[in-house]
Amino acid sequence: MAGPDRERPGGVVDSPAVSAVPVEHVDELQAYAAEAAGCTRCRLAQGRTQVVFGAGNPRAELMFVGEAPGFHEDKQGLPFVGQAGKLLEKLLGGIGMSRGDVYIANVLKCRPPGNRDPQPDEIEACESHLFRQIELIEPTVVATLGNFATKLLSGRPLGITRVHGQEQTTTLGSREVVLYPLYHPAAALYTPAMLKVLESDFARIPELLGRVLTPPEPELALVPAPPPPVEQLGLF
Ligand code: URA
Repeated sequence: MAGPDRERPGGVVDSPAVSAVPVEHVDELQAYAAEAAGCTRCRLAQGRTQVVFGAGNPRAELMFVGEAPGFHEDKQGLPFVGQAGKLLEKLLGGIGMSRGDVYIANVLKCRPPGNRDPQPDEIEACESHLFRQIELIEPTVVATLGNFATKLLSGRPLGITRVHGQEQTTTLGSREVVLYPLYHPAAALYTPAMLKVLESDFARIPELLGRVLTPPEPELALVPAPPPPVEQLGLF
């Protein structure tokens, strides 16, 4: 499914995927990323290395929303580049997709000190960045990773343990999208039972996108080579 993607400034990856999102939205997203790079709306601006706006296909049908950048994300300026990101990539591979097919963002665009939980006033200050991203990307499915993204985008206080795997239609940025809450990959990294649930919830994403799941290519076919043809004995 992934094509020959090209990276552009602002974490935007060009993908040949056909999409209804107008070209102007892609440019607007880049311009918005450049503007958000100087954001000082909350205290997190003081401790960050840089704003982690988001990355991926600006025309993605599938968007992921995590919690906040961590140490590696803050250093590299890209979301989900640590261990949780590796798991996310693996899960994507399991449904025949790659990072270049999707767009990944967070509730908070700056790293909270020591990776502590986002605070309500930080979420309030930052949320319009996320809403604008969703408006410009126009995904059909928004998968929320963990409690913070799920509560913010569903507008409900129900925790991820109760709502994971239950899609709901909601209006975000004046458009209807399918909101799909999932466990956060960082939580699933150390809890095998949670990982199993996350994998099975993930397996439903193609169906939510209106696609048939194409199983990933088998790694190397370990079929033994056929035996060499038996030589005719030269009797005559
Ligand atoms: N966890 C998140 O929620 N976001 C990241 O970018 C990395 C880890």
